[in-house]
Amino acid sequence: MRKNADPNHKILALTTYDISTTKNNIVDYGLMGLGFRPGNACVASSFRLSDKNKKEQLFKIAIHELGHTFGLPHCPDTHCYMRDAKGKNHTNELTGFCSSCKNVLLDAGWKL
Ligand SMILES: [Zn+2]
Ligand SMILES: [Zn+2]
Repeated sequence: MRKNADPNHKILALTTYDISTTKNNIVDYGLMGLGFRPGNACVASSFRLSDKNKKEQLFKIAIHELGHTFGLPHCPDTHCYMRDAKGKNHTNELTGFCSSCKNVLLDAGWKL
């Protein structure tokens, strides 16, 4: 995806398949999403999300990964979309971008 994307565009892939990466000494570390920081490609997976509000959770994962592509790191605010999941699903606690993350995205041209 990264190689096929126009440098001025972002590609977001949505999948129902489980995805994983190698993290530290764990070869197959399961993820809800992954994105280059910064970069032009990211993916969000519904596989590890709860059935109850899967669409809303997938939206939050997708916007988190897009945030990474715009250079945003993980955020210490536990309600911010850029919170690090750290192997758990906290998406129901996320309410939006905190003011710090929001300002980075507004500077990048997002309409929030
Ligand atoms: Zn992240
Ligand atoms: Zn934040």
